[in-house]
Amino acid sequence: MNLTNIGTVKEILSRHGFSFSKGLGQNFIINPEICPKIAENGNARKGFGILEIGTGIGVLTAELAKRAEKVTAIEIDTRLLPILDETLSEFDNIKVINQDVMKADLNKIIKEEFDGLRVAVCANLPYYITSPVIMRLLESRLPIESITVMVQKEAAQRLCAETGTRESGAITVGVNYYGTVKQLFSVSRGNFMPSPNVDSAVIRIDIDRRYRLDEDGEKFFFSVVKAGFSQRRKTVANALSSQLGIGKEQVYTALTENGLSETVRIESLNMEQLIKFSESLRRMK
Ligand code: SAM
Repeated sequence: MNLTNIGTVKEILSRHGFSFSKGLGQNFIINPEICPKIAENGNARKGFGILEIGTGIGVLTAELAKRAEKVTAIEIDTRLLPILDETLSEFDNIKVINQDVMKADLNKIIKEEFDGLRVAVCANLPYYITSPVIMRLLESRLPIESITVMVQKEAAQRLCAETGTRESGAITVGVNYYGTVKQLFSVSRGNFMPSPNVDSAVIRIDIDRRYRLDEDGEKFFFSVVKAGFSQRRKTVANALSSQLGIGKEQVYTALTENGLSETVRIESLNMEQLIKFSESLRRMK
């Protein structure tokens, strides 16, 4: 079935009485060139199980299933299940799990679904939860090799920014802590049905865990990062003292220990500086 043919898609959706939910970020891909490109860049190949988030009518799911050993997709919208039964009927290597990705036990799903396979995540993410989904995938320490996702262009810019620059944010640091991120290609708004009012981009995060703190260190690091960026216009000392109740003198000492100015803002610290500063501060607690 051609799931990028607008006539075919409209016919199936109207037969099932389906109306798009804006709240669930339902913008489906209708350009036939995009899903094969996401699949090919996203490790959808022999030996791999692919975890997809948000199937829509299955346009990306089908391209993943053509290339990978198995696809397990998590979709929250129950109304899509009968549609998927129809649109994906030719495949025997797809399983759809009707759950909220923010609540699903992803480690358990991967263990049960992908025994003996290498695993990667591919998705055209619902935009209203882009950062929480990406952080959940990373923080859950899943045995995954890569995350290849379509996100809003502005989110892609934030995700792919260099740490230590104004363009970076807490999500930039989070992603860089666990992996290496890069933008693959842009996708303009006209490639979706219905068309959103923003453009998109596909990014890939290769999980390589270059930085390894122990469990407490990691927790403390992320609390520092979140507190710092939640008041990014303030100095690190002011932000951390008001958000985490850490004395300014302690912050100054940890900054000085690492050759950093007492008036520095969090956005100008790169990964190495952030990690060293966080570890110095933790030792003083
Ligand atoms: N993959 C399809 C495509 O590219 O055409 C659909 C992508 S659409 C941007 C996002 C999909 O995620 C929708 O099918 C939506 O119902 C689903 N979704 C939204 N929130 C979700 C959640 N919390 N958990 C799982 N799926 C969700």
